[in-house]
Amino acid sequence: MEFCPKCGKMLIPKEEHGVVYLVCPVCGFKKKAEERGYTTTEKRKEESSGVAVNAENPNLPITTVQCPKCGNDKAYFWVEQTRAADEPPTRFYKCTKCGYVWREYS
Ligand SMILES: [Zn+2]
Ligand SMILES: [Zn+2]
Repeated sequence: MEFCPKCGKMLIPKEEHGVVYLVCPVCGFKKKAEERGYTTTEKRKEESSGVAVNAENPNLPITTVQCPKCGNDKAYFWVEQTRAADEPPTRFYKCTKCGYVWREYS
């Protein structure tokens, strides 16, 4: 976390042409981000809404698995890498009948 040397406001990471800058939202102060690992607001939004977006996707494949909520035996499924990259991905299911979403660790 870095702060503006001019007015003391928190600097916001912003990506321009593949380079991440830290920009002050108040006075417009801008400097190149020295540390790696900064992500832009747009990227963070994508990550956090991953499950919801996929759950609404009508083009997902359907598999035979029993819904723990209503007992229906068909559900949409998709796979997501939700934990560390070296761990196996998590499989998600969404019931075709009641819309309940649950996950299964593979
Ligand atoms: Zn400032
Ligand atoms: Zn169900």
